[in-house]
Amino acid sequence: MSPVSLHLLRVGACRHLECMAARGGSWSPVEFPALCGLIRHSEHGWLLYDTGYADHFFAATDSWPERLYRSALPVTLAQEGALKTQLACLGIGQNDIGTVIVSHYHGDHIAGLKDFPNARFIALRADTQHVTALAGRRWRATLGGYLPTLLPGDFLKRVTAADDCPTRDLPTWLAPFEKGFDLFGDGSLLGVPLPGHSHGQLGLFIADADGRPAFLIADACWSLPALREGRMPSPLALLVNAERGRFVETFTGLRGIAQRECAVALLPSHCSIAWQEFHDAS
Ligand SMILES: [Zn+2]
Repeated sequence: MSPVSLHLLRVGACRHLECMAARGGSWSPVEFPALCGLIRHSEHGWLLYDTGYADHFFAATDSWPERLYRSALPVTLAQEGALKTQLACLGIGQNDIGTVIVSHYHGDHIAGLKDFPNARFIALRADTQHVTALAGRRWRATLGGYLPTLLPGDFLKRVTAADDCPTRDLPTWLAPFEKGFDLFGDGSLLGVPLPGHSHGQLGLFIADADGRPAFLIADACWSLPALREGRMPSPLALLVNAERGRFVETFTGLRGIAQRECAVALLPSHCSIAWQEFHDAS
C-alpha cells in the first residue's frame, strides 16, 4: 500500500446557529469552517478532498436567486485563507494538483474547482448527474445548496465516477460501512458512499494517513462532539438533506464508529473541534 500523508486545511467559514448542527446547541451564531483535505500520494502526487470556499463563490452568489445562499449562510474568506494562497505557502502550485475528490457538489465544497486546471475530478455518479441536471434551474439549484456555475467549463470531460473504481472490503471495524471504491487501485484511498446528505455523498477512508487511519466524512455530520454524544442535527437542518432517513442511518453508523474506535480520526467538513484535534495529534 502506498503511504499517504494528510493535512487538513481551513478554507473560509460561514456563520450559522449552533443548534442547527446539533440538538441542544445554543441559539447563537457560531463559525463553521470549510475544511478540505490536502493529500500527498507517493505515486500520484498532490490531491485534494474538496476545496472549501473561494473567490468564485462570491461571484456565483452576486445575483438573485443565488444571493439567497450567501444571505442565509454568511461566508468569510480572508485573502491569506484562500486555498491557492495556502498551497503556495506550502510550495504547491495550482497546476500541481492532479486530482480533486469531490465529496458532493454543494457550493461550500466545490467553490475552488476552477483554480485547478490540471485536476481530474472524482465523485459519485448520482451526485454528478444531479448537479449537471440543475444547470439553468437557478431557483431549484440555489434552494438545494448547489451553484452549478462553480463547475469549470470542461468539467464533464474531467470528471470520473468513483463508482467505476474496483470495490474493496473496508476493515470490519468500520461496520456498518462494508465496501469502498479503490480510487487509485492500490488500496490507499477508499471512497465510501455516505448516503443521505446529497444525492451521492462520497466519504474518504485512508487506512494509513501518516501512520493512523482517517475517515473524511464531509457533511454526514456537522459536529464531532455531537456525533460522539448521538445528538442529531436540528429537525430544520435535517430538511436540507436529500434523503432524511438515509442521513439518519449514515449518522447512526458513524456514531457507532465514533464510540467504539478511538484510533480513527473522524473528520467532518465543518467541525472546528475535529480540525483542532487532528492538528493537535499531528
Ligand atoms: Zn458543507
